[in-house]
Amino acid sequence: MTDRRQFMQGAIAGAVGSTLGSSALAAAVASTAPVSIQATRLADDLVMYAGAGGNVVTLGRGADGLLMIDSGAAEHTDALLRAVEAETGTRRITTAFNTHWHWDHTGGNEVLTKSGTSIMAQAFTRQWLMTSIFVPWQDRLYARRPAAAVPTVGFYCDGELQHAGQDVVYGHLWQAHTDGDIYVHFPKQNVLVVGDLLAVGGYPILDYTTGGWIGGMADANRKLLTLCNEQTRIVPGTGPVQTKADLQAHSDMLAAVRPILVKGIKAGMNGDDMIQQKLTKDFDAKWGKSGLFLQNAYLGLWAHARELGGIV
Ligand SMILES: [Zn+2]
Repeated sequence: MTDRRQFMQGAIAGAVGSTLGSSALAAAVASTAPVSIQATRLADDLVMYAGAGGNVVTLGRGADGLLMIDSGAAEHTDALLRAVEAETGTRRITTAFNTHWHWDHTGGNEVLTKSGTSIMAQAFTRQWLMTSIFVPWQDRLYARRPAAAVPTVGFYCDGELQHAGQDVVYGHLWQAHTDGDIYVHFPKQNVLVVGDLLAVGGYPILDYTTGGWIGGMADANRKLLTLCNEQTRIVPGTGPVQTKADLQAHSDMLAAVRPILVKGIKAGMNGDDMIQQKLTKDFDAKWGKSGLFLQNAYLGLWAHARELGGIV
């Protein structure tokens, strides 16, 4: 899987009833074609890597060892570590974070822990990696991961640490893309890593199967904006480096769409109705196909029916 847009389009086809979606997705997931990893230097000691699944970031170099955020897809771990070594002079990773449990962000975990890396993740992310998960919108069963893939530290509280003399601040964003999403902030370098809380070139994924929903996604985006200024470089889960203006546009879209969908579900619409009645029509020119987004948003809203009120 080298193209997340293809992945999403396949998943969209599956979500709206085509039988093509799951087989296309399986083929994409099984792809082991060689990939090229593109490295982007964000600061002297901070590098982003694209092409290994989700985006990966490293802090540090050489003798210090590295701190890594996310570990890409399993089939690209070797290529990722070669790119990391070429950029930093080492592949010794002392500490890593997982921004959430998805396979394209945690696939390299086994390789990392076997070479001594301590992996940190929010406690719910850690738990998801310790169980089997069926994801209907992908028609895919994620098997329980081996013990070596499970983060060594599962935290509940926000925190900060130092690596190679640099401050690293991290925080949980509750139920948003999943229920274990975190950001990792490098205040001095003014870089914010946000995982899949910010989508590029399309609507975000709301993985309701593991706690994601549109209200939490909107709240998470608002919180992330408070950590940014006009110069902040934002590393999304997939795609190029983004700006505060990009995050603001994403946040504004979520804040505007949320009440439209809540109104729709209160009027008795289901996901198919939301698609047919084009509830996102004012936003589709910028954000593209909304089928999967609407189906997942609808199902995610049900988990919050009590707090929203007026649905049942
Ligand atoms: Zn994800």
